[in-house]
Amino acid sequence: MMDGIAGRIAERIRNGGPVSVAAFMTEAMFDPREGFYATKNPIGAGEDFITAPSVSQMFGELIGLWCAQVWMDMGQPKSFQLVELGPGTGQMMSDIVRAGRAVPGFLDAAQISLIEASAALKMVQGRNLTPLGVEVMWLNRLEDVPPGPAIFVGNEFLDCLPMRQAIKHEGQWHERLIGLSETGEAFAFVLGPPLGVEADLVPERLRDLPDGALAELRPGDQQAVDAIADRFKAHPGHALFIDYGPATSEPGDTFQAIRQHEKTDPLAAPGTADLTARVDFEQLAIFARSAGLDVAGPARQGDWLKALGIDVRAANLIRHAPEKKTAIARQLLRLTEPDQMGELFKVMAISTQGQTKPPGFTPEG
Ligand code: SAH
Repeated sequence: MMDGIAGRIAERIRNGGPVSVAAFMTEAMFDPREGFYATKNPIGAGEDFITAPSVSQMFGELIGLWCAQVWMDMGQPKSFQLVELGPGTGQMMSDIVRAGRAVPGFLDAAQISLIEASAALKMVQGRNLTPLGVEVMWLNRLEDVPPGPAIFVGNEFLDCLPMRQAIKHEGQWHERLIGLSETGEAFAFVLGPPLGVEADLVPERLRDLPDGALAELRPGDQQAVDAIADRFKAHPGHALFIDYGPATSEPGDTFQAIRQHEKTDPLAAPGTADLTARVDFEQLAIFARSAGLDVAGPARQGDWLKALGIDVRAANLIRHAPEKKTAIARQLLRLTEPDQMGELFKVMAISTQGQTKPPGFTPEG
C-alpha cells in the first residue's frame, strides 16, 4: 500500500494519468505536510546531504567578498538588494555577512532577503541569522524582491528546481513520465506523448540525437533566469549560481535521490530523500543570453575559489588556529580538488548587460 505523499501521487496518476518528473519532484519536495524540505532541515553531516557552506566557512566568506567587490564595481549604491535563493540553514548568508563587515559601507547598504519555500528551513535560517544582528526579510518568490540594484546568490538552488525528461522515439522527442507499475504498488517510468512545440525546450546541443537518447529539460531554471532578466533590465544586478553539472549539455538520466548521504531510487518513497538533477550550464547560459543578459563562466568551483584567494584565506585561518590545521586543509581540498567538489561543481554569473565582469572568472569565460 502506498500512503502519504506516495499515496497522493498514485491517486493523481489513477485519476489523471502519468505525471511529469517535474510534478513528481515538486510533490516530493514541497508537499506542505510531508515534503522533504517542507518539514525538516536535511543539510549537515548528521542529516541527509552536505553542501559547500556546511563544509567550511571559507566558502561563504569568499562569496561575501565577491558580493562586496561586485557592489563596489556597481558604484557602491547606497541601497541595494542582497538576495539568497534557497538558503538552506542560512550558513552561507551568515558567512557572507561576517566577511562583508570588512568592507566599509557594504552591509549598511544591503537589504537582505531570503527566498525560501520551506517553513521548517525559514525557522532554522532565523535562528542562525538573528545573532548577527542584521535585518532579514523572507520572500516566497524572486519577483517579490523590492526594486533597485541587486546581487543574487544561490548555491545548490537550481538543481532542485523542477526538471522534465524527454526520450527520442521514432524521430520525435516524447516526454518521459512517471506512472504506476502493473500491480499499482510502485512508480514506474513510461513513455508519454510527443513534446510537440515544447521540443524547443530540449537543450540545443541535444536536439538531433538519435532514437533512445534521453534529454533533461529545466523549465524551472528558465523561469528563474527570465524573472532575473526582467528585473535586471530595469535595475542593474548580478546573479551568482553555484551548482553541480556539466559545462556543456550532456544526454542521459541524472535524476537522483540522496538519503542519509546514500544514493537511492528516486521513485521509491517520495518525500524521504532529496531529489535533484544536474544543472546544464550551457543551457543556463543560453537562457540568460537570449534574455539579454551577460554571462561569466561556467568556471570550475575549484578554479573560481582559488582565483578569489581561498588558499590565502585557509593559511590565515590556520595561523589563527594552528590546532585546526588538519581540518582546515581537509576542507580546502574538499571544496577545490577535481576529484572532490572542485570540478563537478560550476560557478556562473549572469548580469545586466555592460557591467564590469565579476571577479573569479577568466577573461575568456
Ligand atoms: N543553499 C543551501 C541549501 C541548498 S538545498 C546550501 O548550499 O546549503 C536547496 C534549498 O533551496 C533549500 O533551502 C530549499 O528549501 C530551497 N528551495 C528549493 N526549491 C525552492 C523554490 N522553488 N523556492 C524557494 N526555495 C526553494
